[in-house]
Amino acid sequence: MNILDGKKVSNDIKDEIAVQVSKMKERGEKVPHLAAVLVGNDGASLTYVGSKVRSCKKIGFESTLIHLPEETTEEELLAQVVSLNMNSDIDGYIVQLPLPKHIDEQKVLMAVDPDKDVDGFHPTNFGKMALDMDSFIPATPFGIMELLRRYNVDTEGKHTVVIGRSHIVGRPISILMSQKGKAANSTVTLTHSRTKDLTTFTKDADIVVSALGVPDFLKANMVKEGVVIIDVGITRVADETKAKGYYITGDVDFDEVSQKASYITPVPGGVGPMTIAMLLKNTLIARERHRAGN
Ligand code: NAD
Repeated sequence: MNILDGKKVSNDIKDEIAVQVSKMKERGEKVPHLAAVLVGNDGASLTYVGSKVRSCKKIGFESTLIHLPEETTEEELLAQVVSLNMNSDIDGYIVQLPLPKHIDEQKVLMAVDPDKDVDGFHPTNFGKMALDMDSFIPATPFGIMELLRRYNVDTEGKHTVVIGRSHIVGRPISILMSQKGKAANSTVTLTHSRTKDLTTFTKDADIVVSALGVPDFLKANMVKEGVVIIDVGITRVADETKAKGYYITGDVDFDEVSQKASYITPVPGGVGPMTIAMLLKNTLIARERHRAGN
């Protein structure tokens, strides 16, 4: 069994980006600037955004955190989005999800300038991605692809079973892995909550990408010997014995499934850190495009 070490690979990627940023500085060029909009005080969102901002600082990016109160109206948030679109100093920005229930998430994401949409959630970017055109690829699927590429995991002609059809993970990774290219050319089955007899599919899978958010959902008796496991799930499980009052776990019963897997991502330390690294990569791409006048 080999660990797909997302922590290590994400650090490699961040080091590579930092080298590019210092070259930009040497040439007297503007460095990439990422902004993050956070509405409210959701614990997990605060952790994610904090970690994104810290990563920016470490690699030499400029970063701006716009933290708005829970009671921010949809109009106020849309005004913020418009001002970020118009601010030429900002290369890319994200609106951290989930948003409070009184705000229409789709309306907000549609208002983001596709040229600054480093999360890759705008339909323009999603459509371009599906058509094999240059676009911002959503950071989590982008991170999974990069992890598979860097470990030279053979995906060509393999059966990949994706569990979960969300717009940010399951759906895009199913598209990317079915496309031509490295870490792709796979035969993909996209499964979801209405799939009948899921185990029939997972047992046949050479690669399983699990993105449903149910702790320890995937068990050893659901997969075959030698399977490659990508565990996207991140769930906080309450635990009084931990200093934070919870621990983080994935969708996969790691102790059991790792016995059968040829490659497996741990949680934490697998897909999570890759997501942040690829958000930074997208911001670097945005800066380069803006410098080139595109
Ligand atoms: P979501 O909550 O939007 O959707 C879950 C999906 O799972 C749905 O499509 C549903 O059909 C499917 N599903 C639910 N129960 C199922 C079942 N019994 N069998 C088969 N399919 C089932 O999903 P999301 O936003 O993609 O998040 C999924 C998990 O990934 C969560 O734990 C989330 O925290 C995590 N996540 C991690 C990262 C990361 O960086 N590692 C990024 C995004 C999401």
